[in-house]
Amino acid sequence: MKKLVSAGEILVEIMAERIGQSFLEPGPLVGPFPSGAPAIFIGQAAALGQPAGLIGAVGKDDFGQVNIDRLSALGADVSAIAVHEGHATGTAFVTYRPDASRHFVFNIRNSAAGLLKMDDAAKRLLSSADHVHVMGSSLFSDRATEVALGAIAAVKAKGGTVSFDPNIRREIMQASGMRQALDKVLAQTDVFLPSGNELFLFSSAGDEQGAVGELLGRGISCIVLKKGADGAAYHGRQGTVALPGFAVEEIDPTGAGDCFGAAFVSFWLRGAAPADALRIANACGALAVTRKGPMEGIHRLADVEAFIAKAGARA
Ligand code: ATP
Ligand code: MG
Repeated sequence: MKKLVSAGEILVEIMAERIGQSFLEPGPLVGPFPSGAPAIFIGQAAALGQPAGLIGAVGKDDFGQVNIDRLSALGADVSAIAVHEGHATGTAFVTYRPDASRHFVFNIRNSAAGLLKMDDAAKRLLSSADHVHVMGSSLFSDRATEVALGAIAAVKAKGGTVSFDPNIRREIMQASGMRQALDKVLAQTDVFLPSGNELFLFSSAGDEQGAVGELLGRGISCIVLKKGADGAAYHGRQGTVALPGFAVEEIDPTGAGDCFGAAFVSFWLRGAAPADALRIANACGALAVTRKGPMEGIHRLADVEAFIAKAGARA
């Protein structure tokens, strides 16, 4: 089976307990939960049985250990996660507004995550990889971007493939050079996984079909547009498949896009039909939102299949 690698931020997430709670005053928090978009992605891929590894950096502390333990338990290759003494693992503090928007206080660039580099362990992991997945959020510094572009180059040189989720967080987008980095990654992308308006960041078209046509014309093999509770749509050279979302109670949306992407890419790498890959991805995205904590909703393939069978029986 093809091996998937991603590189980027490993964090713990600590969240406000109540909707509408602000960080301008003290309040109850829950966490730490293992997190970081590429970590969630690699964890979900591994849980589905895909060989998958992460290039990242954590501090020599409990927050780092929580992440390494979780990824190992899910079956991911953690050999390229560097542990740095004297630096703290990255963090994300989250509040939820009444309008369902989320606001983050990130400590990434100045945490151990900022020490990400293409060391020997990373090179070794890449030498066994067939596919690289890039999260836009992982292009948080020049140094991190260099690792992502290096990983793409290493895998493309062997005839491998690339997927890309822009995963734009307002709070990170302000990093200098991010826009140029996003463009460079998109130019080498085979599977593009935007969510909502992210589709229009890279196109001059004003509607979905127009933007899709423009992106396919630039050589992207397929575009998979995530639509939250409404499901997702696949657009490839052979056509379009749109599937509604599974009906679930949303407890915490963070991580849905990452779990969705991991599932789609894993099944795309296995040569699954677009509708089948999309169904598994929709199910993983739906399951992700049913638990508090970005990696708590990761399910193994047998459980995802059982969820789909049960939903089908209800429909
Ligand atoms: P993230 O916040 O992780 O970056 P995203 O914006 O990239 O998420 P979404 O569109 O929110 O991605 O969610 C990804 C997928 O997860 C959706 O396409 C859908 O399949 C599933 N999903 C998300 N929210 C729900 C929901 N409330 N009910 C059912 N499925 C959902
Ligand atoms: Mg996302």
